[in-house]
Amino acid sequence: MKTVTLMGATGSVGASTLAVVEAGAFELVGLAGGSNTAALAEIALRHRPRFTVIADGSKGAELKAALEPHGLACGGGPAALLELAAMEADRVVIAIPGFAALEPALAAAAAGRTLCLANKECLVAAGPLVMGAAARHGATILPVDSEHNAIFQVYEAAAERFIRRIVLTASGGPFRTCTLDEMHAVTPAMALKHPNWSMGAKITIDSATMMNKGLEVIEAFHLYPVGAQRVGVVVHPESVVHGMVEYEDGSVLAQLSNPSMVTPIAHCLNWPERGTAPVSALDLITRGTLTFEAPDETRFPCLRLAREALGEGPAATNALNAANEVAVAAFLKGSIGFMQIAELVERTLTRMARDGHAGFASLDEVVDIDRLARHVARDAMTDGFASPA
Ligand code: NAD
Ligand code: MG
Repeated sequence: MKTVTLMGATGSVGASTLAVVEAGAFELVGLAGGSNTAALAEIALRHRPRFTVIADGSKGAELKAALEPHGLACGGGPAALLELAAMEADRVVIAIPGFAALEPALAAAAAGRTLCLANKECLVAAGPLVMGAAARHGATILPVDSEHNAIFQVYEAAAERFIRRIVLTASGGPFRTCTLDEMHAVTPAMALKHPNWSMGAKITIDSATMMNKGLEVIEAFHLYPVGAQRVGVVVHPESVVHGMVEYEDGSVLAQLSNPSMVTPIAHCLNWPERGTAPVSALDLITRGTLTFEAPDETRFPCLRLAREALGEGPAATNALNAANEVAVAAFLKGSIGFMQIAELVERTLTRMARDGHAGFASLDEVVDIDRLARHVARDAMTDGFASPA
């Protein structure tokens, strides 16, 4: 039995992780959710973990009332969340969205744990810090993000110098074939309908703008030492091929599976072995055709912005992430238009660069840059936009 701590249990990756845990030889020992006490308590009562945490401290008493009569230990708020991340377990699954996952990921890394990392924003905001902490403390980072997990499965570390390129596939999202005019009129309801994947709101919007792929290029840069120029993106609407490694001898190794997070999660939980997973087998004959095309950075400027930020360095990718989180939240609230997400991110990056923020050495500095970029982005929102709302 492998022991598992699951952070972000009431979300989309959380649900897929529970499906793998329940189907295999795993014991859930740690559990965390954001603010949905009822959903978290239901999972806790089913699995009886050693420690359950609700990130929203104001819900701590409510969780206690639900769990303590059943003899289950629990806590609430940021300190309890970090305690849980560091707690002894064979796997710590980090499925908390956004910048909020950074400190739990660092705590798990500092405790030398094996992280199953679904969250990409922590690497975009503070890649050198997270990778550095893992290296210093002997922690292992296993990528859950499907593209990075695919690459992990076909990456021959011993032949690293013969790797020509790693390639992330992208579905292209719901607006892959839309005109720029049509994209200006996109509403939150339209953007929340992803053709292939059922995911949390933030990543679904990121997929629609293709910022998700931009964030993933940065994530890949930190996970695989190939250099930014050798991280490619190919649009593949069927989402069957998830990632590829091209070798100098002309071979391209790819991982294929039906579009379900259950497969990469099962891979990370079972690694270095393999196990079973509650997913349907991939049937290529039924699938019939797999297609590939180049990404369009005119209609999807977020992809270009992410690459530019990666070229600038970690402070810029930190600001990119913060500005994007602000912009996505504003779009979901109806305060800005769909194409204004990229505009707001670009404006924030320009202003941050003008003020000169080159890099960071500590978590405090990362948090400072994140906070400043959020402030700049909110401020920039009041200036109006070039594009129509
Ligand atoms: P989600 O919104 O469905 O679920 C998020 C979970 O985290 C919920 O349990 C929520 O309660 C919890 N949470 C929210 N804020 C928190 C906080 N501050 N502290 C602790 N817990 C908090 O999100 P998701 O789609 O499952 O995505 C989670 C992460 O995994 C994201 O970073 C996303 O980019 C990444 N990811 C998701 C998918 C996918 O298919 N959903 C694929 C690849 C990567
Ligand atoms: Mg992905």
